[in-house]
Amino acid sequence: MPMPLSADPDWQRRVIERAKELDHEHRRRPRSFWQSAAGLALSLRFLRTAARQLVTAPHRSEPRRVGHPGPGQIAVTFVGHATVMLTTPLARVLTDPYLGDFFFGLRRAEGACLHPTDAADVNLILVSHAHGDRLDLASLRRLRGRAAVLVPPRCASLVGGLGFGRVVELAPGQSFEFADVEVTAVAARHEGARGLFDRAWRGACGYIVRSAGANVYFAGGTAYFSGFEEIGRRLPPDVALLPVAGYEPPALREDNMSPLDAVQAFTDLGAKLLVPVAHGSFPLGYEPLDEPLRWLRQICADRGLLDQLAVLGHGETFLVRAGASAGEEKAGPNSGEASPSSE
Ligand SMILES: [Zn+2]
Repeated sequence: MPMPLSADPDWQRRVIERAKELDHEHRRRPRSFWQSAAGLALSLRFLRTAARQLVTAPHRSEPRRVGHPGPGQIAVTFVGHATVMLTTPLARVLTDPYLGDFFFGLRRAEGACLHPTDAADVNLILVSHAHGDRLDLASLRRLRGRAAVLVPPRCASLVGGLGFGRVVELAPGQSFEFADVEVTAVAARHEGARGLFDRAWRGACGYIVRSAGANVYFAGGTAYFSGFEEIGRRLPPDVALLPVAGYEPPALREDNMSPLDAVQAFTDLGAKLLVPVAHGSFPLGYEPLDEPLRWLRQICADRGLLDQLAVLGHGETFLVRAGASAGEEKAGPNSGEASPSSE
């Protein structure tokens, strides 16, 4: 049984201390002269990246079909940005589908990689919050049909008219069952308004997806917060899909995680495997597109966590087995041995 939080008087102090330490670590990161000189240099770099992408077609990986795995397994496929496909023996789940090439005039660097046959086979869509890169109406229209959509509180009206069989608002703590999958919504620290003038106080969620004893956590959009430790206690994940981009300037860390934040979240969760998401497609922060993965790999190397890091390329798949150790799971994406569709 998980320990009630009230029985652990040091819990809140520990989380606050960790958050302060993370702030401190971010402040003492080595920065170039231009980075330290002014936000202007960073914003110019952002504009340069965005402009360069406008004239460069997205790199595209060839999508391959992902078959339903055998009993006790979940196939995890990175489609791109925050879109991940989880395939179980009886169901196909898609997180925050974003299948287009443009977002508010920004052109993505890597195209979404999802085979049309698999897209047509999606039963369940998980939307983490109402920001445009996570709740994309054009992508959802392409997936409508038999699928059910789970959204955070006060978001159902945004997708109600798109033609889905079922739209369900799930508040943190509530669960939804479909075929061999149970999805539980969990808290996230993220401002979820649809736009600047949206005053609907929309919710933001992460989701725990459980199937046949394996447990995958999709954090959605979130900053580092005390909830990771609680999620780890109550619903300990095997695999944590954590966002790692959109952290420059530092004020963005109120809503997003840097790789350093994500590694701390991973440790708090007690998960076996960290899969970074929401990187490499759109310049959401001032940091270069390829910086999050470089920094993440460096942190994991420094802390002896490389065995627990699984960086998936677009369209790449690995298998999670119920009760598997981190080492066994890690063999999937890198060796291709356990992967039904590894690049
Ligand atoms: Zn967001």
